[in-house]
Amino acid sequence: MRVYADNAATTYMTKSVMDAFVDALQNFNGNPNSLHTDGQVTQEKLDECRARVAKAINAQYPDEIIFTSGGSEADNQALLSAARGLKKKGKKHLISLNIEHHAILHTLKKLEKEGFEVTLLAPEANGIVSVDKVRDAMRDDTALVSIMFANNEMGAIQPIPEIGALCRERGILFHTDAVQAVAHVPIDVQAMKIDMLSSSAHKFHGPKGVGFLYARRGIRLVNVIEGGAQEKGKRAGTVNVPGIVGMTVALEEGVANLDENMKKTIALRDRLIAGLSDIPHAKLNGDPIKRLPGNVNYSFEGVEGESLLLKLDLNGICCSSGSACTSESLDPSHVLMGMGVPVEAAHGSLRFSLNEENTEEQVDYIIEKVHEIVNYYRSISPFWEELEKGEREHVI
Ligand SMILES: *Cc1c(COP(=O)(O)O)cnc(C)c1O
Repeated sequence: MRVYADNAATTYMTKSVMDAFVDALQNFNGNPNSLHTDGQVTQEKLDECRARVAKAINAQYPDEIIFTSGGSEADNQALLSAARGLKKKGKKHLISLNIEHHAILHTLKKLEKEGFEVTLLAPEANGIVSVDKVRDAMRDDTALVSIMFANNEMGAIQPIPEIGALCRERGILFHTDAVQAVAHVPIDVQAMKIDMLSSSAHKFHGPKGVGFLYARRGIRLVNVIEGGAQEKGKRAGTVNVPGIVGMTVALEEGVANLDENMKKTIALRDRLIAGLSDIPHAKLNGDPIKRLPGNVNYSFEGVEGESLLLKLDLNGICCSSGSACTSESLDPSHVLMGMGVPVEAAHGSLRFSLNEENTEEQVDYIIEKVHEIVNYYRSISPFWEELEKGEREHVI
């Protein structure tokens, strides 16, 4: 059996997204900046997509949407814009989380070198930051709070409306990296008082290499890519028209089917969590309820996540150990470490990210194989033997 359970790393395009993508390659090929008919037909299509994307997240105006090359670029642009814009007003303090994606963490490092002060908050043991902690970290010179909507590794969903309301009340800009959340959980940027939001198409059945930044009207964006005057001068470069068309269809589909997809995916997720729960010295990471519909992140003591992953792959199951961006290094995941998971448990972690295309049969197959493989590796591990003999302390 083949099981794709790595949808947090990337998803497959659906048939309708692929059709829209290919159609755009053929029928919207003019450069939207050209004055001739072919260019103008494409420009109109882009305007239409911008309005449809804005509507899907309940943005007030289409021009609050800037198309980007994906989530990383949107994250970079949001942070750099907030920091540069507010420095002029004497604000130089930024608040974020230690479990953010590297697109956020590395940009914050860069800003720190430019003289900004960064407070990185740690979440509670369930992966969720307390709103009080965010409030306590706020200072008179705080320029921006950037807190991810949902974590890509262990799926915990942050209290976004509460943090949004708090920031609005204090006059502090609020950005959220919603790459894992858009089209997976309900999002309303106005009701949630979000000033800026990053999104990426390939995490919701759209094409790779395209995404968008929502920035509320009145927020001054700085360019990450300098050049021509595309995207109202805020993002140079001829836009990725087929990518944007595909993304728009994927986003609308995701939002239209949100309730149904969530219900189906949550049932599969909880079936998998229940099926793994009888493995001794193993533990679910992240809040069991306030988590992404498809995310199952589990630590198994006494085994290496990478070994499990490779053996699962030999059995046709695609999953992930830690995030794809860190899986090439053997350092334990900064996310699990950042929420206080012991290093031994962080090393033995696996992430399954399901979606509505998965089936109960696939989930049962994952459960069977994980039991088999964890037992196998433990049976040949001298480390596990020491744990069992009581020569070492169990951490889970
Ligand atoms: C995937 C991801 C990103 C990066 O998006 P790209 O489009 O791949 O650049 C950023 N943040 C989170 C939370 C992600 O999951």
